[in-house]
Amino acid sequence: YTLGLNLGAVDTCLCMGASISQACGFYHAYKGKGNRPPIVATIGDSTFFHAGIPATINAVVTGAKFVLVVLDNGTTAMTGNQPTPAVGSVANVFDGNNVSIEQVLKGCGVKTILIRDPYDVPGFTRTVKEARKKIEDEGVVAIIARHPCIRDKKVLASQDVYSIRVTDRCNKCRYCIDEFECPALYLGESKVEVDMSICIGCGVCVHACPRRAIVAEPIKR
Ligand code: SF4
Ligand code: SF4
Repeated sequence: YTLGLNLGAVDTCLCMGASISQACGFYHAYKGKGNRPPIVATIGDSTFFHAGIPATINAVVTGAKFVLVVLDNGTTAMTGNQPTPAVGSVANVFDGNNVSIEQVLKGCGVKTILIRDPYDVPGFTRTVKEARKKIEDEGVVAIIARHPCIRDKKVLASQDVYSIRVTDRCNKCRYCIDEFECPALYLGESKVEVDMSICIGCGVCVHACPRRAIVAEPIKR
């Protein structure tokens, strides 16, 4: 999944849909050597449907141990926002049937499937740590990171919105700009500023500042 490369969140990327089979291979390559690194595979929701299912079955069958994160935004944003099989409509907008990611994972033999909203950064971080512990007993542990794509105007209109402000606690360390990379944040003269013309008020940046200089006030609709 290339979207985390710029944030240093991805160590390997071979091709679209390869992450689960790679994670499985890494596990077996390191198994029994005493230096197994933490292994986390990330895959988009639509890619999971077209390339992740056989690899997940293979990982379960061969006893691989890693955390699998399915990034479920309910769309295929990379190729033009076509619906995924979980949505219940098809690309020509006629209604279709939906296939649940969690049920597919269960059918692949994954015992623990945790569904969390990645916008809850502290909660999601706890979940990843919890999953990492569980893999030793359970093999593949799946987290579905579920938050609908905000490019859909209906989604944007329905989610919680915050007014974002950067306080004088900001010391221009640039962490939020270099490591978090929301394009709405930019370095002003004395502190980081928020470009309100592109900020969607998601509030996630609050968790990006180690000095707690970014504050969010809920906006009532
Ligand atoms: S808002 Fe926080 S993270 Fe960003 S530059 Fe200021 S102190 Fe650093
Ligand atoms: S609220 Fe969301 S869009 Fe606005 S600056 Fe923070 S992270 Fe970026």
